[in-house]
Amino acid sequence: MNRKEQRIIMALIAVAAWAVPAAAQEYPSKPVALMVPFAAGGPTDTVARVLGQAMGKVLKQTIIVENTVGAGGTIAPMRLKSATPDGYTLLLAHIGMSTAPALYKTLPFKPLEDFEYIGQVVDVPMTLIAKQDMPARDLKELLAYIKANKDKISFANAGVGSASHLCGLLFMSTIEVDLTTVPYKGTAPALNDLLGGQVDLLCDQTTNTTPYIKAGRVKAYGTTSKTRLETLKDLPPLAEAGLPGFEVVVWHGVYAPKGTPRPVLDKLVAALQAAIKDPAFVQRMSDLGAQVVTTEKATPEALRSHLKAEIDRWTPIIKKAGVYAE
Ligand code: ASP
Repeated sequence: MNRKEQRIIMALIAVAAWAVPAAAQEYPSKPVALMVPFAAGGPTDTVARVLGQAMGKVLKQTIIVENTVGAGGTIAPMRLKSATPDGYTLLLAHIGMSTAPALYKTLPFKPLEDFEYIGQVVDVPMTLIAKQDMPARDLKELLAYIKANKDKISFANAGVGSASHLCGLLFMSTIEVDLTTVPYKGTAPALNDLLGGQVDLLCDQTTNTTPYIKAGRVKAYGTTSKTRLETLKDLPPLAEAGLPGFEVVVWHGVYAPKGTPRPVLDKLVAALQAAIKDPAFVQRMSDLGAQVVTTEKATPEALRSHLKAEIDRWTPIIKKAGVYAE
């Protein structure tokens, strides 16, 4: 290599060193995709769309929700793992990130290793509901009805790894009855079928069920929260109504592909922190019975450590229930 060639190479290295921070500085210069692992119109989709608006305001860019559905919500994280780490592909995922490792014998991603963590978003309780003409009026009657008709009752969910699957699993193992489960690509289509009377039972998040419970279009038997919800005051927690200790909190986190540049991650964390204080976001979430997290939880460290704690919490429970997907 002669001197001239050396100089050219040095100049190229200098340009390359500048290029990354410059791109990160301009970020985001085009719309950002936020993947959602479940169907449009469902609970995770609802959170993503409201959050996307709030974060988009801060980032001064459009956030486009992409419903990357399938395999109980595990296709979307798999896609995120192989996405370009430039901040233009993100994922909103829920509690399923912590249950999938125990539910799937082979999982094509490692939740604690393969991603960058932006922060937690919102905690959403669930509700146990049935089709409108279910004869049981409360949980006690429902349990008696289930025991007498167990071969006839169908329980909808959004696939192995979804929150509705987890809630159904806990419910069936608590009451020691196995019901026929019907998987959908999200609880939006599951709820549609429940409204049409094609399936009998569904455990789903308040972000999806609240308007239907309020309008009396479904029968509701309880919430998976510890205490009564402001938005559904007449509905007791399942733990109070006859299933002591029954609690599921559907927590959510925003993830980015591993290797996303630090300045981009910093911008995303700042946008999330601003979004969880945005009055429109907070109001919409609280109208739907959800609790927006505190600033301390909307951080990369808090999301990763919560994910780890939840994996440690759910793994033995799921192993004990003996459910696996291939
Ligand atoms: N949250 C999912 C959805 O948006 C379903 C589930 O986790 O049960 O459809």
